[in-house]
Amino acid sequence: MTRRAFAAFFLLVTLVASCGTLAGSPPPDRAQQGDTASRATPCRGNGDDFPGDVKLARCLTEWFWADRFRQSGETYRPITRFVAYEGNGGPDCGGQPAVPENAFYCPDGHFVAYDAAWLRAMYDQMGDGAVYVVIPHELGHAVQAQLVDDFRYNVERELQADCYAGAALSGLIQARALRAEQGDEEELLVNLEAAGDPTDAWWAPDAHGTPEKRQGYFAQGYNEGVGAC
Ligand SMILES: [Zn+2]
Repeated sequence: MTRRAFAAFFLLVTLVASCGTLAGSPPPDRAQQGDTASRATPCRGNGDDFPGDVKLARCLTEWFWADRFRQSGETYRPITRFVAYEGNGGPDCGGQPAVPENAFYCPDGHFVAYDAAWLRAMYDQMGDGAVYVVIPHELGHAVQAQLVDDFRYNVERELQADCYAGAALSGLIQARALRAEQGDEEELLVNLEAAGDPTDAWWAPDAHGTPEKRQGYFAQGYNEGVGAC
């Protein structure tokens, strides 16, 4: 997610309807956990406000990956820290200062940090889908760090993280750990629109992919699962 991309939201929001929809089971959620799910996952809370959604998105996504790793005979390594910051007050990552209005995974220390005021603003404007795109995307980078991570271009890494985010969300819905509410699908697509690059400079070191590509990779993971990423 980048600041530049966020500014594009206002232009892009009206395009969502033309960009197709996520097929399959209904997407996430206002993150209310079903009874089944509260027993099946270690995650507590209903996700009915911003702090609750942020906590739940992190917990459930990591639960999903721990389960996937276990199924493959591997052990998922949870992030060491989940840092909320504001403005310029974010943690360094390998000597690089955190920037405002961003969320990131830091391999040096294996942690995720997010500008809470920025994420909160997106949550208020676009709905809780913001949280369920941003957090699973960043945790997708934490997963990549534990798998093969030899991408030639940054955009490949970013789009795979989108795919992982989609796969995690649909996996959580299938596991009844998340329930979709009406409008959630649109929220997710809006958020991916907003997070896309304004141009298709896919070779750029900070490229994340165009809105269409980001939606496409997210939908691929969502519809076909982790194996499709
Ligand atoms: Zn990313």
